[in-house]
Amino acid sequence: LTSKLASFGTTVFAEMTALAIETGAINLGQGFPDTDGPAEVLDAAVEAIRSGVNQYPPGPGLPVLREAIVEHQQRFYGLDYDVDAEVLVTAGATEALAGALLGMLDEGDEVVLFEPMYDSYQACIALAGGVLKPVVLRPDFEGDGRYGFDRDEFVAAVSPRTKLILLNTPHNPTGKVFTRDELQFIADVAIEHDLLVVTDEVYEHLVFSGAEHVPMATLPGMAERTLCISSGGKTFNTTGWKTGWMCGPAPMINAAKMAKQFLTYVNGAPFQPAIATGLRLPDSFYDHLAADLEAKRDRLLPGLEAAGFEVFVPEATYFTTVDIRPVRPDGDGIAFCMSLPVDVGVVAIPTQVFYANPEHGRHLVRFACCKRFEVLDQAVERLASLG
Ligand code: PMP
Ligand code: GLN
Repeated sequence: LTSKLASFGTTVFAEMTALAIETGAINLGQGFPDTDGPAEVLDAAVEAIRSGVNQYPPGPGLPVLREAIVEHQQRFYGLDYDVDAEVLVTAGATEALAGALLGMLDEGDEVVLFEPMYDSYQACIALAGGVLKPVVLRPDFEGDGRYGFDRDEFVAAVSPRTKLILLNTPHNPTGKVFTRDELQFIADVAIEHDLLVVTDEVYEHLVFSGAEHVPMATLPGMAERTLCISSGGKTFNTTGWKTGWMCGPAPMINAAKMAKQFLTYVNGAPFQPAIATGLRLPDSFYDHLAADLEAKRDRLLPGLEAAGFEVFVPEATYFTTVDIRPVRPDGDGIAFCMSLPVDVGVVAIPTQVFYANPEHGRHLVRFACCKRFEVLDQAVERLASLG
């Protein structure tokens, strides 16, 4: 069979997790934590199931969750959304992205975005008949170890066919948090060319000391053209619940709703009040979440350095990227990741699968740090045998 998606194959996450299971390797590939989230959130889901929240919820999502999302946007960012017209609950951020792209793009519309990018972006843009206009994020762009981009290249990616900018910050797989200055530059381009912006902010609460997550919608003139997407998966260690959402101007929400009603119609009724409980947890929960993950990053990084990789220190997210060339001079990330489980018993993700042009990321590999300390220590011990 051939289809629009034939060239996309199986997602790298499914492939690498299968390899981890098959070889018994430590899975630092697919990003999911190996501990449960807050008891209040888990209990709330059980309670919802026991008390009969088990049938189709309303199309936009249960009011209790939509209200909690509105409160969350106000509490953390000072953003105001109308609970009925400007919020939509989705089956994870993945469906929010699909719904937004399918609902807003017409055949031939161009989307400017950064590569590397989360793998569903390319596939959903292809499904929607859109055209990808990637701008490369380069490691150590300004010699400060951070990923950066060439602003002229960004401007050159915009054309009269550009409909929207798709921006992921904090960014998977690089761990980059876009600075206010970078965001203002992107916002200026969006306003000048009258573009829509879709932001993927699923790692909004996994930000380490020294960095600050700035939602694009908080910049002057941006709330009215920005659709902001997030999810409870990363924040509450519930990646399998697939409960996400979007907030934005009613016309953008309505466009995504048109697609969502035929994708899943509705999703995850009992998880919705549980995620609402999580969104209302006190600041101490959120502070601890980020501090815990930062400690895990700091446990893994020295091990990656000791193994010989060039490490790009992430400012946020579950992930760290490395340049493998000091360890593997041919820089073939795919071959490296296919042999790593067998050679040393660790799974990682070849970052090149996140690029529109794989050559740009051929030598880069992503390791997940969202695992228990003892698992990270064991992985580091195994990686030491590489040197
Ligand atoms: N966007 C990014 C950048 C991600 O890393 C993920 C992680 N899975 C998603 C979207 C999807 O989120 P969800 O599991 O809520 O669909
Ligand atoms: N977001 C996670 C990652 O990047 C998992 C994605 C998935 O399994 N589809 O690893």
